[in-house]
Amino acid sequence: MTTRRQFVQSLPAFAVAAQVALDNDAAPAAQNAAAPVAGHFHPKGKAPSEFTKEVLRKAKQALPFDDTRDFEEQRRGLVARMPEMQIKNDTGGVAWDMTRFQFLDQQDEFDSVHPSMHRIGQLNNNYGLYEVVPGIYQVRGIDLAQTTFVRGKTGWIVFDCLVTADAMRAAWKLFQEHKGEGLPVTAVVYSHSHGDHWGGVRGVVNEADIRAGKVQIIAPRDFMAYSISENVFAGNAMNRRMFYQYGVLLPVSPYGYVTQGLGHGISRGTSGLIAPTRIVEKDIEEFEVDGVRMIFQNTPNTEAPSEMNTYIPDRQALWIAENVCATLHNLYTLRGALVRDALNWSKYINEALYRFGQEAVVMFGAHHWPRWGNGRIQEILRGQRDLYAHFNNQVLHLANQGVTVNQIHNVYELPKSLQQRWDCRGYHGSVPHNARAVVNRYLGYWDCNPATLIPLSPEDSAPLYVEMMGGAEKIIAKARGLHDRGDYMLASEILDKLVHAEPKNQVAKDLLADVFEQIGYQQENPGLRNSFLAGAYELRTGVPEGASPKSSGPDVIRAMSTELFLDFLGIRMDSRKAEGMRFTMNLITPDNGEKFLVELENATLTNLPGFLAGKPDLTLTINRSDLEQTMTGAKTLEAQIKDGTAKVEGDVSILAKLAATMVDFDPRFEILPGTRGREELLHADAFEAVPGKTIPE
Ligand SMILES: [Zn+2]
Repeated sequence: MTTRRQFVQSLPAFAVAAQVALDNDAAPAAQNAAAPVAGHFHPKGKAPSEFTKEVLRKAKQALPFDDTRDFEEQRRGLVARMPEMQIKNDTGGVAWDMTRFQFLDQQDEFDSVHPSMHRIGQLNNNYGLYEVVPGIYQVRGIDLAQTTFVRGKTGWIVFDCLVTADAMRAAWKLFQEHKGEGLPVTAVVYSHSHGDHWGGVRGVVNEADIRAGKVQIIAPRDFMAYSISENVFAGNAMNRRMFYQYGVLLPVSPYGYVTQGLGHGISRGTSGLIAPTRIVEKDIEEFEVDGVRMIFQNTPNTEAPSEMNTYIPDRQALWIAENVCATLHNLYTLRGALVRDALNWSKYINEALYRFGQEAVVMFGAHHWPRWGNGRIQEILRGQRDLYAHFNNQVLHLANQGVTVNQIHNVYELPKSLQQRWDCRGYHGSVPHNARAVVNRYLGYWDCNPATLIPLSPEDSAPLYVEMMGGAEKIIAKARGLHDRGDYMLASEILDKLVHAEPKNQVAKDLLADVFEQIGYQQENPGLRNSFLAGAYELRTGVPEGASPKSSGPDVIRAMSTELFLDFLGIRMDSRKAEGMRFTMNLITPDNGEKFLVELENATLTNLPGFLAGKPDLTLTINRSDLEQTMTGAKTLEAQIKDGTAKVEGDVSILAKLAATMVDFDPRFEILPGTRGREELLHADAFEAVPGKTIPE
């Protein structure tokens, strides 16, 4: 037995998990139409079919491969390659392993990889220190995002800090060896609230220097609120879904994980968060940072809820954050998030175009490579502006004519001019899943067909389908025929019913895995490919006993507001265990002057900041700094009461009752039928905050 935290921390980000013992010992041996292919990481893995190869051949012909400007820009300004192909982390493990991606440069094409995905994978093989313009440098290719160093008067201003301190330290070392002149970091600018842009901050600055006023940390409006909160409430589900979108378990291989579009992947090691010392509050703010004039443009509710661009007028250099990348970005991210506002996003790009883009001579961002020359910058900004606006406008145009969330991805198309632009190809967002997102944002999940309004659960409706279709053997025979004709979506449709009706039917699961695999090979988009291949993997092997990046560290817990913590306890509480319970509790945290009225009633836990009940059943007084000991699991609340760190007045037994209702979420829940392993996780401490890891994007 392991604890959730041990489990999450033990997981290899990209390794194959050990074979899982499944509850399907009685299932007949798999018999598949196609034979396993040599060189595939999985014993049941298949080669791409002729149909799949044809899809990839056609894609290659349709795309503008003679436009190689991205490769020129990606190579430009190389100062030094990173000498080590593997970067070690604190604990002796590997933070980053570039050897895995070298295969992408060793062949012109792979028949199991979409040519456009292969292309972005090759572009992501940049790995080293680059000059953007004199005085501005980037270390690229050692994490999902990159880090940028801008020369200030007395030192270096860092734009974004990667996911882990380990990767960030390596970046800083490489930079100092070539261009850093031994000067210190004088400021850090966080471009936005996603974890791949701040998690490595402790690799270049320490808290003492910040307290001493030597280093300033600048962030967009509402940064702290969103850096944590976006990933807490549904954090465990997001973690689980990252197995799919980010292919966490898939080995790097032409048959598995290839790249992640925004970068090759996520570094492994320690993430931290240091709170900003200066927030850019106004829409547009201008001030000097270490002697460099900067104009900050807040761009809320674009790629992230809290984000900002920065213009450096004296160098005519535009930092475009993650608002513009060399790809179509996610309007909906498959790991799960609120749907983003495409129109708002487009408007902020348009503002950057007219506010800064008329004179900028270089544009650089948080992922991918810079664009040089005003013509090129305008070309990219205009295309990206229209890309997001087109999604909003044309999807809603179609929705207003009755096209539903369940049809839009088969109807909506980008205009030809945008289809032919590499920076608008779907390496992170995809056209189909983004189109569905726009409908979902405005109209929600329902297609307005009463039959889908309160549908049966798939496992409840599937047995009737299977019965009416004449049973498992007929479905498998039909599905095999569809598979053999390359009709993978149709095969998936009926096999999905069968595996829901018969979760132990390994023949059905193996055939569905073969179907998913072919659909996966055909995808241009890494999130879609990974999702289908992860589905195939789990159908063949079961839900992994090991996987997923490291869970959040103490910094992240510390950054969680007490209100958010209490809200999350309300989510962790199994309401069914709280039937009939009732109490009112005051929580006072004297060191930060906060107070909360917490009530359990109607099997629902609520809290109200700033209020206290007149006659509470219990008053709990504990400094916020001590409460964090409990939130991180370092010391139980019980122990803190016992040693007097926490003071209680009233009926202390309600804490034990509340603790008994808490459930620890298991990050290995079953997604596809009949794939769950056996091992149960041990319960975490009752009041430990378990918000999952910081989630990059
Ligand atoms: Zn990012």
